Amino acid sequence: MQKNEIVKVKIEDIGVGGEGIGKVDGYTLFIKDAIIGDVVEAKVMKAKKNYGYARLMNVLTPSKDRVEEPVCPMARKCGGCQIQEMKYPAQLAFKEAKVRGNLERIGEVPAELLDQIMHPAVGMDGEGMQPFRYRNKAQFPVGTDKDGRVIAGFYAGRTHSIIENTDCALGVEVNEEILNCILDFMEEFKIPAYDEVKHKGLVRHVLLRYGFKTDEIMVCLVINGKTIPHCHDLVGRLRQIPGMTSITLSTNTAKTNVIMGDTIRLLWGQEFITDYIGEIKYQISPLSFYQVNPVQTEKLYGLALDYAGLTGNDETVWDLYCGIGTISLFLAKKAKQVYGVEIVPQAIDDAKNNAKINDITNAEFYVGKAEEVLPEYYKEYEKTHNGEAAHADVIVVDPPRKGCEESLLQTIVDMQPEKVVYVSCDSATLARDVKFLRANGYELKDVTPVDQFPHTVHVETVVLLSQQKPDDTIEIDLDLDELDATSAELKATYQEIKDYVLKEFGLKVSSLYISQVKRKCGIEVGENYNLPKSENARVPQCPKEKEDAIKAALKYFAMI
Ligand code: SAH
Repeated sequence: MQKNEIVKVKIEDIGVGGEGIGKVDGYTLFIKDAIIGDVVEAKVMKAKKNYGYARLMNVLTPSKDRVEEPVCPMARKCGGCQIQEMKYPAQLAFKEAKVRGNLERIGEVPAELLDQIMHPAVGMDGEGMQPFRYRNKAQFPVGTDKDGRVIAGFYAGRTHSIIENTDCALGVEVNEEILNCILDFMEEFKIPAYDEVKHKGLVRHVLLRYGFKTDEIMVCLVINGKTIPHCHDLVGRLRQIPGMTSITLSTNTAKTNVIMGDTIRLLWGQEFITDYIGEIKYQISPLSFYQVNPVQTEKLYGLALDYAGLTGNDETVWDLYCGIGTISLFLAKKAKQVYGVEIVPQAIDDAKNNAKINDITNAEFYVGKAEEVLPEYYKEYEKTHNGEAAHADVIVVDPPRKGCEESLLQTIVDMQPEKVVYVSCDSATLARDVKFLRANGYELKDVTPVDQFPHTVHVETVVLLSQQKPDDTIEIDLDLDELDATSAELKATYQEIKDYVLKEFGLKVSSLYISQVKRKCGIEVGENYNLPKSENARVPQCPKEKEDAIKAALKYFAMI
């Protein structure tokens, strides 16, 4: 294969970066913006020995998963979205396959187990929808175009040239009005945009945040200086926009890619906006970390809470990598005590403040590395409690992409919490860590990918691991109706329950799952089947969706 060669390729696969992958006479080509099922014409840009990169020139036959027209005309140029041209259900399927593939290959989780415990990716707004406008935060770089006009937009993929676009389709609509207001002001008063190369000019970035539940708006201008000339005029214009709550300046005079400066100066209103995830209120300042897709975050943390299975009485929970305490506070209402650990001190200040404004008194936060704080706590506890080990019922981790250090995982294993809930933004490191935990006495019980970032290749995953106990293991398939003999004539048979669940919910459930749910509901079931055949046998646990369906059947048959 030669550079500049034009080839016709059928796209057969998708890479981790969302690029299409196809073969020409056994030679592999990576083609950005091409989708599995497309037949495309592409120009080879870089040819290595066994593989190369090509640019999509023409879609000859579009894939069934290709949208007719991307919503954003900048979709291809902008570095923000990688798979906007793929229909949403196909995006979800891609993300699910990515998580599953990593768990199988890196995590060595058997495919049969994943068949049972892996749930479909939780998307936005149901089947077929194209979810846009989901981001509550946008950071627009400001610059000057070749005609000297002040512009705002987005960086092109992997570069720092600004693509003019004041209406990113992932952000809220009001962003455009705010940006135009700022750009008009800059034109009128000849306020220069920052020039990254010359390290000159004033306005570098505009940070915009929006409270989805409160409609509060935050504007923070990041400037290469201390003040903006005529800023009263700017404030006067911006505060007319309904919802405007916070207008601030952040000074960043360094020659750096870091967007925000260290300091924030209030120009008008208050320094923070307020928003809610579920019932919990958060105050968000320009420098705070806050999840960008609040709708999906609520689903993600709802799952984490569900997986934690707290009873509301007596549990001790650790939330490692807790950020501003989002998960900790979500769990605190159902636990006796929550401990959060986070490396960034300002985030811990926010976490403490958020606990306070929500009247949560059973959450304590520590600044430090999770892999240092937890092991030290564990050792210290042993010393001060006559050798008794520190106890946790549930440990939640939500690490950055690199995942957890093995030393931390080892401490978790030593502490033997009943449950580990792992929230992950990188399924490859998740899989690595799951492998360690499975090899050390934990069973993988549930896996659910959650789509926090539609149109990008990123995917979050939440998994539940439970401590493996010899007495909840089984490896047999018996006719449970025979064993479950108590007043049989009064009850529906397993087959009747199966038929009902299939008819009403379209789900297939096993006798084992039915018996698990019956037991949970306090219905007596036969004893014999519960005996494990061997010490190490494993028993799959009924997923939540099926549990709910079985419960509905039990209700229908008046058994509960
Ligand atoms: N659960 C939080 C944020 C998770 S993002 C929320 O939803 O708000 C991961 C967090 O881990 C970041 O806040 C990051 O600052 C923090 N972090 C990174 N390395 C860490 C470490 N070694 N120990 C503790 N926290 C760390």
